Amino acid sequence: TKLNVAVLFGGVSTEHEVSIVSAKSVMQNLDKEKYEIIPIGITKEGKWLLYTGKIEDLDSKWTVYSIECFISPDRTRKALVKIKDSEATFIDIDVVFPVLHGLNGEDGTVQGLLELSGIPYVGCGVLSSGICMDKAFAKKLALLEGIPQGHFLVIYQNEYLSKKDYFIRRIESEFSYPVFVKPANSGSSIGISKAKDRDDLILAINQAFYYDTKILIEEAIDAREIECALLGNDEIFVSALGEIIPSREFYSYEAKYIDNSSELIIPAKLEKQVEDEIKELAVKIYRLFECSGMARIDFFVDRKTSKVYFNEVNTIPGFTSISMYPKLMEYSGIPYSQLLDRLIELAIERNSRKQ
Ligand code: ATP
Ligand code: MG
Ligand code: MG
Ligand code: MG
Repeated sequence: TKLNVAVLFGGVSTEHEVSIVSAKSVMQNLDKEKYEIIPIGITKEGKWLLYTGKIEDLDSKWTVYSIECFISPDRTRKALVKIKDSEATFIDIDVVFPVLHGLNGEDGTVQGLLELSGIPYVGCGVLSSGICMDKAFAKKLALLEGIPQGHFLVIYQNEYLSKKDYFIRRIESEFSYPVFVKPANSGSSIGISKAKDRDDLILAINQAFYYDTKILIEEAIDAREIECALLGNDEIFVSALGEIIPSREFYSYEAKYIDNSSELIIPAKLEKQVEDEIKELAVKIYRLFECSGMARIDFFVDRKTSKVYFNEVNTIPGFTSISMYPKLMEYSGIPYSQLLDRLIELAIERNSRKQ
């Protein structure tokens, strides 16, 4: 008998569109002999809809083919509730694969609902997702454990608004330009800028506060960008490393999705010693943040000194067939469909411990 796999896509997130592309690819690669796919879209407004169209037709106009639904938090049901002509139908769900990026999906919120529902779900749990999404918490925790990272400062919007001059002076005394300015919770580089002088900095801060009430100022590292894919609950599989060569000054939203000319190099060409150091750090970070299922951990390697810096963890990394996470796994011996099988097994395995 087939497992009913609900795939969540879209979401109330700036990464809504990216999620649709990732989810389409996941659904195309799920083994149809093993799984019954139940595609569930979440609109930008937060409405849950069962997508009834063909997977290959899934695009930004998906809501046209949809029926109202929601996952019930009732753990005696473990079900999707479909509502048509004011009648509710329950569809049993065996596992949920949230292919949601950014807020309201990668940050522990959807994971919280799924914990309540008792339904196994792919990827990190509530706390882990929340910490990895929140770059301020992640960096503070990494600091406690001596994980190497660049200098950073966390600023809250209410404090900034009442002490702008203080913060600008403080940033200029603690950092030298350029600096990176980021919303604490973000993804796909949305709201992130590289500021080269004071005017830039003020604009960058305002821009980051447009997306979040908490932001980070970071030392800009002149570095190669190296990413590592991890898979597992207790036993962790670490992929080969990949390098990103951004098409722009940094790996911005445009460089990721618009230009189509950023390059992914697999495997990254690094000295053995640096490669080992990154892989070892990646496992340490995966455990530190109590990741389960999967994560893509991103690093910087200083161009001059080869010093390794931790950048961030993505608990639901890009999942298109040309995305780094599935590509690294494929290169490392786990083709896309098998990767999905493994992620589903890991979800069920983690859930079974809690019952
Ligand atoms: P993702 O899409 O991987 O989730 P994100 O939105 O969470 O990305 P980051 O990875 O933190 O954002 O930053 C986006 C990009 O900005 C990085 O890939 C890198 O090109 C650049 N960048 C960020 N921070 C720094 C830094 N401190 N020094 C140098 N470059 C940086
Ligand atoms: Mg990220
Ligand atoms: Mg991300
Ligand atoms: Mg990143």
